[in-house]
Amino acid sequence: MTAPEARTRTDLLSLPPEEAEATLARHFATRDQPSYRTEQAVRWLYEGDAAGFGEMTNLPLAERAALEDAFVPPALPVARVDRSRDGTAKHLWRLHDNELIESVLIPAGRRLTLCISSQAGCAMACTFCATGWAGYRRQLTAGEITAQYRGARAWARSEGYPDISNIVFMGMGEPLVNRKAVIPALGILNHGFGVGARRITVSTVGIVPGILEMAEMPEQYRLAVSLHAPNHELRQTLIPVERKYPLPELMEALRAFERAGGKRITFEYVMIDQVNDHPELAEELARQVGEFNALVNLIPYNPIPGREWVSSSPPRLRAFAARLEEMGINVSVREPRGRDIAAACGQLRADAVEGRTAPVGV
Ligand code: SF4
Repeated sequence: MTAPEARTRTDLLSLPPEEAEATLARHFATRDQPSYRTEQAVRWLYEGDAAGFGEMTNLPLAERAALEDAFVPPALPVARVDRSRDGTAKHLWRLHDNELIESVLIPAGRRLTLCISSQAGCAMACTFCATGWAGYRRQLTAGEITAQYRGARAWARSEGYPDISNIVFMGMGEPLVNRKAVIPALGILNHGFGVGARRITVSTVGIVPGILEMAEMPEQYRLAVSLHAPNHELRQTLIPVERKYPLPELMEALRAFERAGGKRITFEYVMIDQVNDHPELAEELARQVGEFNALVNLIPYNPIPGREWVSSSPPRLRAFAARLEEMGINVSVREPRGRDIAAACGQLRADAVEGRTAPVGV
């Protein structure tokens, strides 16, 4: 069943900020309200934490009710929130059609990274990922993406966390197969909510047309690429989309992204014992990414039900990292975060390293 808001009400959080403002201005004009009402509502939308229009306390009651009639509430209901001993916090949000999606807040020193979802489920079927195994449900709208930020920000403020410093699209879903919503959401987060473009990272398994579209964008959004293997044969066993966009094509797209200027690339590499952690693969990986001004994030594998794989042992992980470094590659090794609350979408969400932008990527 489709909820009423999907049929009749406008979702302001799905609109570019100037369009949301113009929509609100028209709404108040038809109700003979002074123009400052628009400014009041816009502030609530992007700066405030009100979960509904009824909480916008400097608006008259009748105006709050009229806003409720006309627009989708600017907050997703929280189905559940779990907080890890290390401060990592996972929100489960309920969408209007009862789909559930997750976002994760990951504190690290004075930084607070928010990992958000771009789809309910995922169709990419990466063999190491719990979300991939669970399958695809539907695309999120731009409003459902930006509402995760707005809701997580409100919760973080109420719990005394620092401001959200970074956003990573590393939750459920492959963002670059939902560009219709993700590209507008980037603009809303950047221009509406004021999150700097360089503080927003889109993580992809390597959707070439999406990477090329991001290369064309004037904003310097960051890109993280889930590599996980340095050659076609091995990579296609981990990431089926490698068959559609094989490594040479992916690397060509990344060259275009880098040529577009100032756009740093991060390569994510999940370390699975005896699968992709052999020393010769480190050398192959170094040759593959050496041409880029990039960082390789090595991520200990987070076991998922139904797979016997385990994470590379610390000595194997260290040896792999050392070989990369010897070959001139910038490397970081991530610390797992939030494991006691299962804050990992397969491998996605819960790892972060102090001083780095990103937790774990798709
Ligand atoms: S790793 Fe990312 S792209 Fe792959 S199945 Fe999981 S959520 Fe989808």
